[in-house]
Amino acid sequence: MNKRFRGAKEVLLLGAACWLVPAMAIAAASSAPQADPYDDAIPVARDLKYPGTVRVAVDATDVMRGIFRVHETVPVAQAGQLTLLYPKWLPGEHGPIGPIASLAGLVITAGGKPLAWKRDPVDVYAFTVDVPPGVREIEASFQFLSATAETQGRIDTTPDMLHLQWTATTLYPAGYFARRITVEAKATYPAGFKAATALEVASVEANTVIYKPVSYDVLVDSPVYAGRYFRREQLCPNVFLNIVGDAPKLIEISPDILALHRNLCRQAIKLFGAQHYDHYDFLLSVSDRLGSIGLEHHRSSEDGVGPGYFTEWDRHLGDHDLLPHEFSHSWNGKFRRGADLWTPDYRTPMRDSLLWVYEGQTQFWGEILAVRSGLMSKADVLDELAVVATTYGEAAGRSWRTVEDTTNDPIVAQRRPKPWPSWQRSEDYYDEGALTWLDANAVVDRLSLGKKSMNDFAPAFFGMKDGDFGELPYTFDDVVKALDQVQPYDWASFLKQRIYSLRPRPPLDWIAEAGYRLDFTSQPNRWVTSGEKDRNVLDLSFSLGMQVGKEGVVGRVNWDGPAFNAGITTGTTVVAIDDHTYSDDAMRDAIASAASGKVPIRVLLKQGNLFRSVELAYHGGLRYPHLVKVSEGDGALDRLLAPLR
Ligand SMILES: [Zn+2]
Repeated sequence: MNKRFRGAKEVLLLGAACWLVPAMAIAAASSAPQADPYDDAIPVARDLKYPGTVRVAVDATDVMRGIFRVHETVPVAQAGQLTLLYPKWLPGEHGPIGPIASLAGLVITAGGKPLAWKRDPVDVYAFTVDVPPGVREIEASFQFLSATAETQGRIDTTPDMLHLQWTATTLYPAGYFARRITVEAKATYPAGFKAATALEVASVEANTVIYKPVSYDVLVDSPVYAGRYFRREQLCPNVFLNIVGDAPKLIEISPDILALHRNLCRQAIKLFGAQHYDHYDFLLSVSDRLGSIGLEHHRSSEDGVGPGYFTEWDRHLGDHDLLPHEFSHSWNGKFRRGADLWTPDYRTPMRDSLLWVYEGQTQFWGEILAVRSGLMSKADVLDELAVVATTYGEAAGRSWRTVEDTTNDPIVAQRRPKPWPSWQRSEDYYDEGALTWLDANAVVDRLSLGKKSMNDFAPAFFGMKDGDFGELPYTFDDVVKALDQVQPYDWASFLKQRIYSLRPRPPLDWIAEAGYRLDFTSQPNRWVTSGEKDRNVLDLSFSLGMQVGKEGVVGRVNWDGPAFNAGITTGTTVVAIDDHTYSDDAMRDAIASAASGKVPIRVLLKQGNLFRSVELAYHGGLRYPHLVKVSEGDGALDRLLAPLR
């Protein structure tokens, strides 16, 4: 960022000289300002050891109001300017979304005397103070004010649990690689809470847990879950499932369901071969009050599921591949990461160009490991894949935006809701990345006559260097080379066609190659039905091209679909269908009736305070995708979904 700003300034000065004459010529007619130069004085991160240990104390007891109170002691080696940074580019979020607006009450002192701080006007995550001569350390205190309503962001505390992210509750000194700054952290939790994190405990004093010193990148990568209702289960010798729940009954686990989670652990380790953690802790909240999340870390993951996860196991399919996905990230995303995504600190901009590997292949392994462990049935994953294949096949946005361009979406859109996601496209590198890896598996399987598969890529690319807890970046060429070592093929062209080019259809060769066919019937598959219940929507994506939520409020409209062409938008309310009050059943009946004739479906819409009637000339009936096996015997996909022995 430093270099870029300085470069811009030089160009500006040259430009001013070149345009001197025309600027003077129009001076009499209108004002023509020049940019006020910005001088970036924030030091760039260097691979140098920060002198001394930063100490952080977080008071996390105010769960009723969601206020985290932070006190930090930062050693200083010399007098002069010192810049403290609040993390901006968050690992796993892939974008500049550190919650800086939630930092408040910042006071910095030296020897008990206040030091005036100044926020950088361009990088508003940076606070600079002048350290007087003779000062050995400064103290910073502030609050992280977590959201008190969902409209403000994710909820981090409830009266019974909390979620502590060090990215939100620490400042760190600028000018050093995060791995070269040593931090000793401690946190005080409400009485009666138990806490879990990948950090190791040094000691406990009443409700305060003092953690062993770690480097700042490890601290940032080691959030804490704490709760009144807490359970810890061992899944593998060094892998643990830590659970907090809204109520004691929500964290009761039957032996059968626990066994599935143990299978996950065994199957993942069998797949990747090596492990890049000394111990791994799933941090799982079972709650409809704490905000939902799925965020990967090297030695842990933050996983938020709904209250029925353990107690109504068969009802919430959408949550069943969360743990397999996040666990896979310990290998794909944490140990291995795109070279342009790896940054030495949380100020240097991240570039997301290889997220179709980082997230796309994690999505792929998440679904496969869910089946191999029994967390999902094979039929359920086939249903999910049928939905994904159809959703991306029918998405209008693929005509203008490549999958590779969607890797910029965490920066472009920062996960805000969109009016027309099927046209704008979103973070499509997840699902379309997974479809690409299914195609890659089909190629390897075919050319190796069923002897090899992506099972050979996983240990070769992600499983190398057992016991290495560091990070090993890769490039596009490294991916191509590793694929070629599994099975010689023109992988560069294969990936460029699917990821870097505009294509009318998503990668779906794997369907026919495995002896399946994508079929449509008027009956929703189980994945659709489960999603409808979980999200409280009627999913008509594949017929009218829309989803209708509670009380008829439209939640999503597909670009160029029947609903779109009738002028329906997200947020429109469907008040009546064929002159009767809206209900999901009435809507289904109307679509089914229209299929047998030429009479359009009449709907009364409310948009703001305007009512209007429109006719939906759609006669295709209810329509849902299914993957149907059309040939005998196991194909590449069947072999891929089988558990490893
Ligand atoms: Zn992920």
